[in-house]
Amino acid sequence: CGIVGYIGKHTASSILLAGLEKLEYRGYDSAGITLVNDRTLQTRKFAGRLERLVNNINKQPIEGTIGIGHTRWATHGEPTDNNAHPHLNNKQTIAVVHNGIIENYLSLKNFLIEQGYTFYSETDTEVISNLIDYYYENELLAAVKKAVKQLKGAYALEIVSSKHPDEMIAVRYESPLVLGIGEDGYYLASDIPAILNYTKSVIYLENGDIVRLTKNNYQIYNHKQSLVKREIKEVSWDI
Ligand code: GLU
Repeated sequence: CGIVGYIGKHTASSILLAGLEKLEYRGYDSAGITLVNDRTLQTRKFAGRLERLVNNINKQPIEGTIGIGHTRWATHGEPTDNNAHPHLNNKQTIAVVHNGIIENYLSLKNFLIEQGYTFYSETDTEVISNLIDYYYENELLAAVKKAVKQLKGAYALEIVSSKHPDEMIAVRYESPLVLGIGEDGYYLASDIPAILNYTKSVIYLENGDIVRLTKNNYQIYNHKQSLVKREIKEVSWDI
């Protein structure tokens, strides 16, 4: 029900956890994060209070300056540790967080099973990481663009990959997502309060936008897949 993301110079885990805390008001039943570090993905995810995730990370911190975070409001599959996001592909090289619903997930799931994929959760979201994997040919952005074309429903997505340790992709369609432009990196969130402690410069992404982020650059593609410039707005309120 809430997503946050960070790519930049700082340790991502504390930024993600602080952001998820600010999104708690939206309601949730599970929380999780994935960080990219040294070409590996490290994921922690738990059903229940955000505190479970926070305590786990405090006891055993995870390194990395790129990461995605999620609070879940289950639509498909019970609130369990296993159904919590992020969801990874079978090869564990791609991690996805998702807000919304994939209406055609069952036909995509059946298609992917025919292609040899195995599913480990009851969520609609798990089809996304495997579908990106299915289209993957060395370029994460290209694979995401192809996968997203097959999705019906509502989705705000963040995607990271161990094969692309300096990159993050985000997608917005019928679920909110804002991009924060910081001095030390980029932030993503489903709502402004999650990032306001770090930056007040934001871009409100539009329906169909796909964003590619690196530590010091970003590109936004619109629903027609053309590169676009979007206005950076200064948020004038405090939290
Ligand atoms: N449909 C997804 C799930 O049930 C995402 C729900 C959400 O927006 O948190 O896992």
